[in-house]
Amino acid sequence: LPPCNYSPSPYNGPSLEEVLQTRQKYINPAVFLYYQNPIMIVEGYMQYLFDHTGKRYLDLIGGIVTISVGHRHPKVMEKIKQQLDKLQHATTIYLHPNMGLLAKKLAQTTPEGLDVVYFVNSGSEANDLAILMARLYTGNYDILAMQNAYHGAVTSVLGLTSHHTWKPPIPHQHGIHHVPCPDLYRNPFSGTDEERLLKSAQEIQNIIHYSTCGKIAGLIAEPIHGVGGVTELHPTYLQKAYEIVRKHGGLCISDEVQTGFGRTGDHYWGFQNLNVTPDIITLAKGLGNGTPVAAVITRKEIAQTLAKKIHFNTYGGNPVSMAAGLAVMEVIEEENLQENCRNLGKYFKEELKKLQNKHPHIGDVRGKGLMLGVELVKNQQTKEPATEEAKIIAEKTKDMALLLGRGGLYGNVLRLKPPMCITKEDVDYALAVLDKAFEELKS
Ligand code: PMP
Repeated sequence: LPPCNYSPSPYNGPSLEEVLQTRQKYINPAVFLYYQNPIMIVEGYMQYLFDHTGKRYLDLIGGIVTISVGHRHPKVMEKIKQQLDKLQHATTIYLHPNMGLLAKKLAQTTPEGLDVVYFVNSGSEANDLAILMARLYTGNYDILAMQNAYHGAVTSVLGLTSHHTWKPPIPHQHGIHHVPCPDLYRNPFSGTDEERLLKSAQEIQNIIHYSTCGKIAGLIAEPIHGVGGVTELHPTYLQKAYEIVRKHGGLCISDEVQTGFGRTGDHYWGFQNLNVTPDIITLAKGLGNGTPVAAVITRKEIAQTLAKKIHFNTYGGNPVSMAAGLAVMEVIEEENLQENCRNLGKYFKEELKKLQNKHPHIGDVRGKGLMLGVELVKNQQTKEPATEEAKIIAEKTKDMALLLGRGGLYGNVLRLKPPMCITKEDVDYALAVLDKAFEELKS
């Protein structure tokens, strides 16, 4: 690993075995562990995590794309501590300066007119609220989501999520229709990119015509599918989709839970890469850098529909989360983290493509900025998913002190979405580890 002048403090808590046993006895087994040989993470600093033995890991998944500016970033910690010393919680029934300040700061990053914010605590809650607003504003019920999407796991948004692997057998999809994903690697349609684009767009039209009353509440889409395996859309797909949705009375919702805050490099928000302007933006993860905070941003007239009934969120807008969000957004600017994502992301992707030429298990390298995916296949021609191989790579890289994520319907996509503060030395280390792990996979 590249040198780091931070030393973790000695760990004096219960052993890994004890922690594992307690977890197995008292925690719902749905809360899963990633690795066959689990690791216990007890400390973090910037792009690194430390286990109970003091072993340092380079973190390329950042608490599932949540650690934006670095674990325990000093400025963010300082601002959180300062706020904790004054007031932790009183709810939004009183005035407090932080909520408005963060909303104003967010509005400075969004297109003109998208400047009214509702704070909640998680991505699922933000998407739930966005769908409610779209339904109330349009007076329509049907929502379109994309195949391969992930929008959360609470039952009100589970219907939007589009992998059978996440869905318990309950009727959670009333009024939700999934449109095909114009994935550049595994597109469901044949023909040239342009023909496949037109077929994808036609399918949106067909679903509206055949499965709804002809009027819809909206479309929700991630600019790059995150959990779905860093799936990039055809570059003009969302423009076409938004046009059709609006023609049928719907609003366009961009789920920026993973793609926001400069991670994709060229732009602050993911939708800006695709030349569209949504009516509603949902965000979470990266804003808090680990503090639970999420939001829905929309136009004033859409926001107003919610005010016709009482609406309340106990922890939404709490001063500590707001202080964290403000500090995170300041750090992104002060440390030019969007630029770091653009430059390092480009380098990382180019180098991963070189590994693809060397290792037949790498079927595709994709993504933007520091939101990259490596799809593993058994055969580059048939594209048969290499799920077991992805698990082996994750385990091997972990043993070499590199933590990465896995995703995609088949769990065969390595997800590289590190804290945005990583350095070229870190990227070089990650490349060397991946190269070695893929080499070992051949034997
Ligand atoms: N939307 C997207 C794009 C996500 O990646 C996630 C979480 N992985 C969510 C929504 C749900 O967020 P949460 O887990 O905070 O409810």
